Amino acid sequence: MDWSTFPREKTDCKLCGSNSFSLLSTQMTWPVVRCGNCGFVYLAERPSEDELAGMYSKSYYEDGDVGYRGYVSIFEKYHDTFMRIFLRRHRDLIKRASGRRLLEVGCAYGFLLDFLRSKDWEVTGIEISPISSAYARDQLHLNVHTGSVESMNLPAESFDVILLLDVLEHLHRPFDTLRHIRSLLAPGGILVVQCPWELFHWEKVAEARLKWMKPGTVKPDAVPAHLYFFQPSSLEGILRKAGFKIIGRQSGNYGAIRRLVDPPRIGKGSTIEKILRYVYFRMGLQRLLYLIARLTGFGNGIIRYAVPSEKCSDI
Ligand SMILES: [Zn+2]
Repeated sequence: MDWSTFPREKTDCKLCGSNSFSLLSTQMTWPVVRCGNCGFVYLAERPSEDELAGMYSKSYYEDGDVGYRGYVSIFEKYHDTFMRIFLRRHRDLIKRASGRRLLEVGCAYGFLLDFLRSKDWEVTGIEISPISSAYARDQLHLNVHTGSVESMNLPAESFDVILLLDVLEHLHRPFDTLRHIRSLLAPGGILVVQCPWELFHWEKVAEARLKWMKPGTVKPDAVPAHLYFFQPSSLEGILRKAGFKIIGRQSGNYGAIRRLVDPPRIGKGSTIEKILRYVYFRMGLQRLLYLIARLTGFGNGIIRYAVPSEKCSDI
């Protein structure tokens, strides 16, 4: 799939509205920029919403560069690893949730919902991709709707937990979605948001330094499906602006599955580079640093728990 020829639209900073920015890098013709006013990192040109929706209908799950190749077979092959990740999620949720009615926005094939249902959650899912949402309904017999959360007629204040995992960075209109989610939360309900910490995360900064590049200029994940590249401050900024108050912070790490599916190569470069990569990836240094990072809040997965705040700014 040739992403570089996708029809595109320009956009201002979604966090502060400014149109001043500096270019960090160009990835397959897509400009990754940093807002000159608030520092938010985003794609200043991006595929239109309809184009991207069309992509999620099929090729996203086939193209390994941007989306997920062979998602179902990966899930089946690494089932035990997925189960460990899901079990940790379940334990984190029961500590904070006031009830068991759970909605996952962007549930993909529904594997997490299927697991949570087995732990006595009452689960509902929404997924924009007709392919994966049909799988969730037909194969896993889950209550999953196809479309966006805004287009569904879900009753207001009907969920105790709403999950938005690895979704926010894909949304053209993040505030519309977050505002709608806000209306669906029951009193005492919580929103759980997870997204990758990209570009200015310590590992990416180190990667840039080792390649003699400026921090922020290495290749981020999944361009042009990812429209924003969050850091903890910008994720919290967008949640606050959408009328949420942060009640919990947690750190995770992406990469457990990816390491199994596609182990990092030691391959190219100078002898020093090869030794560094060997020590980092094969001798366990990355795993050790990831563990320390997760415990100290510097993992590459940003997780925030939020509740509606009293004040919702005009957006
Ligand atoms: Zn800005």
